[in-house]
Amino acid sequence: MISVKHIKKRYASFEALKGLSFDIQDGEIVGLLGPNGAGKTTTIKILTGFLQPDEGEVVVNGQNVIDQTAKAQAEIGYLPENAPLYPELSVQDYLEMIADIREIPAKDKKTYLRDAVTATALTDRLNTPIGQLSKGYRQRVGLAQAILHKPKLLILDEPTVGLDPTQLLEIRSLIKHLSERATILFSSHILPEVEALCDRAIILMNGSLRADARLSDLANSANAVVTFERETEARDKLAGLESAQYVEMLTTEPGYRVIGKPGSDLCPQIFRLAKEHNWPLRELRHEVRTLETVFNDLANSHVEEVPVEEVSA
Ligand code: ATP
Repeated sequence: MISVKHIKKRYASFEALKGLSFDIQDGEIVGLLGPNGAGKTTTIKILTGFLQPDEGEVVVNGQNVIDQTAKAQAEIGYLPENAPLYPELSVQDYLEMIADIREIPAKDKKTYLRDAVTATALTDRLNTPIGQLSKGYRQRVGLAQAILHKPKLLILDEPTVGLDPTQLLEIRSLIKHLSERATILFSSHILPEVEALCDRAIILMNGSLRADARLSDLANSANAVVTFERETEARDKLAGLESAQYVEMLTTEPGYRVIGKPGSDLCPQIFRLAKEHNWPLRELRHEVRTLETVFNDLANSHVEEVPVEEVSA
């Protein structure tokens, strides 16, 4: 559905995207994560044809976004970070205006409007001026305009930002519902939200892809943390284990975190190594990887030391 190849973007001398590549398959729901300034909005603007990259290629459902922007945009429903809603228009008038902009044929307009309004539970607010709606309802209007032309791909820039806990749950469940009929890419700062909604998370940092994790694999991935009574040179032996993907040195105490291949059980193997080499073992424990541990590990590490982590199959 989306193929992004080596996109680069500069703002004056600042390199906001440094050669980003990833693919998204039909039917996936993917979270785009990253700290402030990582390049999420820049990526989304390029994918939706609102910003030209300096280099690289973006193809959406077979249409090249850079050369065939209008055709590609017809395939996409886009909710920008600050959706430009017109406060003086009623929900109905606004959505009719969007239907005209999207060139929905007159004979289909009524059905398309009804479907979008039903999906976003806006039926009882159709005559309310947008300016009088709560933030949660305005976000629903933003989603309604994004799905109005029945796109196969929805791209949502921080769809739950600024919502209260009730509105947040409503919008999340709406996104889940919409994912039954469209591929979805959305950006978020909220890790549990991405865990709850997504099949996959793409983590950007400093304009580069730092991890691409299928959440089911993450849950199955086996890490082990081994600590020693004193500094012990064990890295190479640990890295040599067949089930190890890579090894990180702990910064808080002598020891290592061994990132395992999905489904592997590292602890018995590490215990055997420790016995064989007489390591002064203090603790050996299994560690479940969550999006939060992956994100924090990446955020706390130096860019040049950590390769792109491919947790996905
Ligand atoms: P946030 O989570 O804060 O929204 P983000 O991951 O969406 O951040 P971007 O908005 O894509 O990040 O910005 C990436 C970097 O590019 C930031 O350092 C930002 O300051 C810079 N940037 C974005 N837009 C412009 C612009 N129009 N001119 C100059 N620099 C920009």
